[in-house]
Amino acid sequence: TRTSVITGSASGIGAATAALLRERGQRVIGVDLKDADVQADLSTRQGRQDAAAQAVELAGGSVDAVIACAGISAPVPATLSVNYFGVVEFLEALRPTLAAAPHPRAAVVSSMASLQPNSPEMVEAALAGDEARGLEIAQSFADQGPQAGYAVYPSSKRALSRWVRRASITPEWAGAGIPLNAVAPGTVLTPMTQQLLATEESRAMVDSHVPMPLNYHQPPESIATLLAWLTSEENTHLAGQVIYCDGGADATLRGDDV
Ligand code: NAD
Repeated sequence: TRTSVITGSASGIGAATAALLRERGQRVIGVDLKDADVQADLSTRQGRQDAAAQAVELAGGSVDAVIACAGISAPVPATLSVNYFGVVEFLEALRPTLAAAPHPRAAVVSSMASLQPNSPEMVEAALAGDEARGLEIAQSFADQGPQAGYAVYPSSKRALSRWVRRASITPEWAGAGIPLNAVAPGTVLTPMTQQLLATEESRAMVDSHVPMPLNYHQPPESIATLLAWLTSEENTHLAGQVIYCDGGADATLRGDDV
């Protein structure tokens, strides 16, 4: 039976993925701020390292898959820390353990929002591994108010999608036989979006940025099933992809630009 480590397991997409894999008889080690097997704060370097070490220990030293769902969307610098560094450093800390598994897999949750206006400087700082510089840039956006601060979220996700693209084909991932991919959801019905979708006006605003002609807003299970496949033994050759599972939002917005 496979053992998967899932971050953000206490809510939304992470919780749906944990439930699905458990239902299928797999072992899941959940990581979250609370209500999880491993309680950790992925916004800090220490938290990431401790969480990875604890997860490996709970798993008895062998982990078959890592699924990184933890994320926040607030217009604050911490969003860059959780959404980018909290994924990348956590995955990197678990990579040597993963590489020893017979069929290792990794998947992360990016977003449709990675295509929205963002800060190329913040993206570059993240990809360079410079968290201090990234936070400085994020703070300068946040200081201009929530409207400007919103750029932190798409920037964190753009950086994450690019990291997956770059890292997936390196000796450390592809060379070690570990498919690494991202899923980019549209508007998912979870606590993260509850407030945003509460009024007709705010919902119209969300829908104008994320048009979903196929089946409209999606349940977290629509992402969980995809994450489950990406991290299953069946996935032998899909790597480095950012898969837009978004009710057709990406096709609507980017059209022929593929
Ligand atoms: P959610 O708020 O329901 O769940 C996120 C989980 O991450 C929570 O349990 C939270 O406690 C955990 N988390 C937050 N900060 C953390 C930290 N510092 N350390 C450890 N855990 C932390 O949200 P969700 O909608 O399930 O989002 C999951 C992922 O999907 C996120 O990365 C989000 O950006 C992405 N996403 C969501 C949507 C959407 O519409 N809901 C769309 C695109 C992408």
